[in-house]
Amino acid sequence: MRRGRRVRVALAAALIAALGAACADSTDERPPGSGAAGPATPAGGQPQQARGAAGALAAYVERTRRAQAARARAVKKWGLAKMPLPAPPPPAVKPAITTRKGFETAGEGLPPVFTTVPTKEKVVFLTIDDGAEKDPALLRMMSELQIPYSAFLSDYLVKEDYGYFKKMRDAGVALHNHTLNHRYMPALSYKQQEREICGQQDNLEKRYGTRPPLFRPPYGNYNQDTLRAAKSCGIKAVPLWAAEAFPDRMEWREWDRDLHPGDIILTHFRGREDWKGTMPDMIRQVMKTVTAKGYAVARLEDYV
Ligand SMILES: [Zn+2]
Repeated sequence: MRRGRRVRVALAAALIAALGAACADSTDERPPGSGAAGPATPAGGQPQQARGAAGALAAYVERTRRAQAARARAVKKWGLAKMPLPAPPPPAVKPAITTRKGFETAGEGLPPVFTTVPTKEKVVFLTIDDGAEKDPALLRMMSELQIPYSAFLSDYLVKEDYGYFKKMRDAGVALHNHTLNHRYMPALSYKQQEREICGQQDNLEKRYGTRPPLFRPPYGNYNQDTLRAAKSCGIKAVPLWAAEAFPDRMEWREWDRDLHPGDIILTHFRGREDWKGTMPDMIRQVMKTVTAKGYAVARLEDYV
């Protein structure tokens, strides 16, 4: 038993050291058991059990080391200014979301329209719209860096290559609704809007097996018919954005031109013909800003 205890204490120390080193890193892995990284519980078990726990701890330390090393290599490979900050664990209960003041469209039970998710955590959310540019490098970059993002897709662009977004979905990215044809919604009748939104729900289900809960109207423009139609198509929430990312700059909605906990960042699938850089250039730029301001990128679907 004494030996068992020594082994566990030594392993706990190694674990804490590894986690300490991993602080500048992020992995989704948690220590085995309760998830607490503190010293092992008093050794009361048989040497057999102690060895079992020791093995699990050692395996966790090894996995953490490997994930950290892989991410450090990815940061270097993709030319990020700094290691992205680790996102905190997702909230146990998703926050209640209400429509942003000034963005209301009267109507009980309509999906809320918001630009920031209510949270005190220093997290922001990355959302990429439309679907024009289909750069394979973006898929590799985001997977290797383990940066979460959500896609809001318009079928008239996505249909050029459904396979690209299938790979994105397979990499764990949630695909959401950005209409069939990217029309200015307030100019359309209720029926036309319903067709734009429900039609894309049907299409996303057919192509990717998902009827997403989130919808973003093109240009961020909507009226009460948009929200009524979206609700009828099964949409639960309408996230807009607090900041927009480009390869060479950020544009801000708020007067302080800054990020805030829970802010949603918009960007687009675009290439050199549309703006001053590639998708990886844009990601490098937005991550530089996000990390420098002390924020981590979290998964929107963990909060909404
Ligand atoms: Zn759009």
